[in-house]
Amino acid sequence: MTTSINADLHCHSVVSDGTLTPEALAARAKHNGVDLWALTDHDEIGGQAGAAAAAADLGLDYVTGVEISVSFLGQTVHIVGLGFDADNQPLWQGLQRTRGGRAQRAHEMSDDLARVGIHGAFDGALKYAGNHDLISRTHFARFMVETGVCKDTYEVFRKYLTEGKPGYVEHRWATLKDAVTWITQAGGIAVVAHPARYKFSANEEFALFSEFKGHGGQGVEVVTGSHSAAESVVYTGTALEFGLLASRGSDFHSPDESRTDLGALPDLPSQLTPVWTLLEDRIQRAANHS
Ligand code: AMP
Ligand code: MN
Ligand code: MN
Ligand code: MN
Repeated sequence: MTTSINADLHCHSVVSDGTLTPEALAARAKHNGVDLWALTDHDEIGGQAGAAAAAADLGLDYVTGVEISVSFLGQTVHIVGLGFDADNQPLWQGLQRTRGGRAQRAHEMSDDLARVGIHGAFDGALKYAGNHDLISRTHFARFMVETGVCKDTYEVFRKYLTEGKPGYVEHRWATLKDAVTWITQAGGIAVVAHPARYKFSANEEFALFSEFKGHGGQGVEVVTGSHSAAESVVYTGTALEFGLLASRGSDFHSPDESRTDLGALPDLPSQLTPVWTLLEDRIQRAANHS
């Protein structure tokens, strides 16, 4: 397989904070010309069976996926896992522990928002959560657009839900070591998601990639819906410097909110080794490519 296949290895369904079902995402990926697809819900793999079955029906190659929330040097970092055994019990248990505490955090966020005059946010956000076990900032953002507090979810994050703003509540997620270990012991490959999104100093970023590799991590997202073209060039350098495989994914959440659609991404730079070269024997190949 070459760098030029249309692989999209990062997106979200109603099982986390996306607005489409795994089946609707599979159909959209197929329609948009994706050749290899992974659903990577936050901290949850309950959508994997549905995604894989829908992909098989459509003649679309599939690889299992997840995006795990990690706390590292005071920031939240996301680690994507690809090609793991979706029935692996230690992975299930680790993800269940990572999800725990989201409801408590959501109540605290709601209390914070009430103090600045935004009432009923917990119940409002919960209405948008397809999975009540996974109430996310995104669901709060949708509620606050619906009620006219902001014009779109980007404005909600800018004014309310990010560090230093009135609806932000600090949360302790999994450790980097645990997330990488859960993925790799389940037979998967760990990938640093959208590295340009973090606000690390050069030294902190070096620590992230060094420790990630030390724990057995093997990949980095270079081309993602969260990166500009210039940022993809920066992380091409990082992939080469750390000897990491490169991944590509839209991070698609919703037709109404996402700026990058499934499969609508530039190719990986040709000097990189794509992560799918190592996923060959973990790809669930569709019998009938249509
Ligand atoms: P949570 O896991 O509840 O902290 O929510 C994180 C999710 O919020 C991310 O996966 C994105 O979908 C969304 N998000 C985070 N930051 C932003 C932002 N600045 N703009 C838009 N969406 C964001
Ligand atoms: Mn999200
Ligand atoms: Mn992410
Ligand atoms: Mn994501």
